[in-house]
Amino acid sequence: MSTLLVRHAALVATFDDQRRELTDAGLFIRDGFIEQVGSSGQLPTKADEILDLGGHVLLPGLVNTHHHFYQTLTRAVPAAQDANLFKWLTTLYPIWARLTSEDIHISTQTALAELAFSGCTTTADHLYIYPNGTRLDDEIEAAAEVGLRLHASRGSMSVGESQGGLPPDSVVEAEEQILLESRRLIEAYHDPKPGAMTQIVLAPCSPFSVSQDLMRETASLAIQYKVQMHTHLAETKDEESYTQEHFGMRPIPWMETLGWMREDVWYAHSVHVNNEEINQFAKFGCGVAHCASSNMRLASGIAPIQKMLTAGVKVGLGVDGSASNDSSHMLGETRQAMLLARLDEGLRGASLSAEEAPALMSARQALELATRGGAAVLGRKDIGSLEAGKCADFFAVDLERLEYAGALHDPLAALVFCAPVRADYTVVGGRFVVKEAELLPLELPTLVEKHNRAARRLLAQ
Ligand SMILES: [Zn+2]
Repeated sequence: MSTLLVRHAALVATFDDQRRELTDAGLFIRDGFIEQVGSSGQLPTKADEILDLGGHVLLPGLVNTHHHFYQTLTRAVPAAQDANLFKWLTTLYPIWARLTSEDIHISTQTALAELAFSGCTTTADHLYIYPNGTRLDDEIEAAAEVGLRLHASRGSMSVGESQGGLPPDSVVEAEEQILLESRRLIEAYHDPKPGAMTQIVLAPCSPFSVSQDLMRETASLAIQYKVQMHTHLAETKDEESYTQEHFGMRPIPWMETLGWMREDVWYAHSVHVNNEEINQFAKFGCGVAHCASSNMRLASGIAPIQKMLTAGVKVGLGVDGSASNDSSHMLGETRQAMLLARLDEGLRGASLSAEEAPALMSARQALELATRGGAAVLGRKDIGSLEAGKCADFFAVDLERLEYAGALHDPLAALVFCAPVRADYTVVGGRFVVKEAELLPLELPTLVEKHNRAARRLLAQ
């Protein structure tokens, strides 16, 4: 039994069902779960550890719903800087084909360090390329040393160039091997219980890199083991042309024929979706990982997030892989999502009167996507808000800083409107990952040096 008392936070934004925002408040935590949320005067006075957070704003830990950790090794690669998705991928595949187990380990820790500093406590990752004996285990083991909750996706590519796919043949795998590995990983690591640190997700990469058979087989395996399914979908116009040409239909109807319209499925991007397809997402309960920065970086388009929310679709935020963002900053991503939604609303409302124009996404709505929204997308009922019985996952930011000077009329909105900052505290299951602005589990200078060495080697060959 261990207890942690957090008190005197200037503001606790609970994101509970009433969206309570409490001043001079805190949390009482026992064995990794929240026992009480309330004003400082109502909380117990004794605990194994007491943290006074005067002058800080405290929120539920942010939930990242889409990433490719290994891409932190290929940020800002010159030849891929100004390309759209298909050109970007064909430039990077040969570099990624040199990845080793050590590279997966290092890049996982780099991505998780950045995420932790940005207030993230739970993250999905999508690893879909396994050259040179690399395994998803490399990522899972590296993540355990950092201490963020991980939804590790066993990604896959099985249709290479010679079969009409986009990736070179050298980076695709045999489908039998993919399914065997998927089964092994679920049995070895998947934890369905509340408070789980590791869950396994099955995630063929995209419509243009796997077969219909693999999509169907993956779905039946996921259903058998009750794990979630994930893939990239409707990211670009090129993808839409590909599915029209190869399967005679748009991406979403194609998914329906494969048994992939289910509530345990979430899709990354979903930029090019029409109203009918949005309604299909809502009807079947599919989630969407909205990756605003990546969609802008690769000029993919603007995902109609407000329309999805109005229709009742589950929407979370994703930083996406670091070769198309090129940052793992969840607060930064929350800001981008708010700004891009506003631009979309402005463009849609351009011809309408002021009364008819759609309302602008607020900072609180954007933070809701990053907390409750992400939890719903990942199928987690134990995270996403600060309430008794939920995981003790939170982050806190000191308000006395240059970036927030002049914004303290609304400290919660400052987190989204002002320049993205680093969290001073990030706590997962009652354990400190960031404390007093320091990352506890890792030696950062050593990690950065190893990471840069690995990145140089990948690019040099
Ligand atoms: Zn992606």
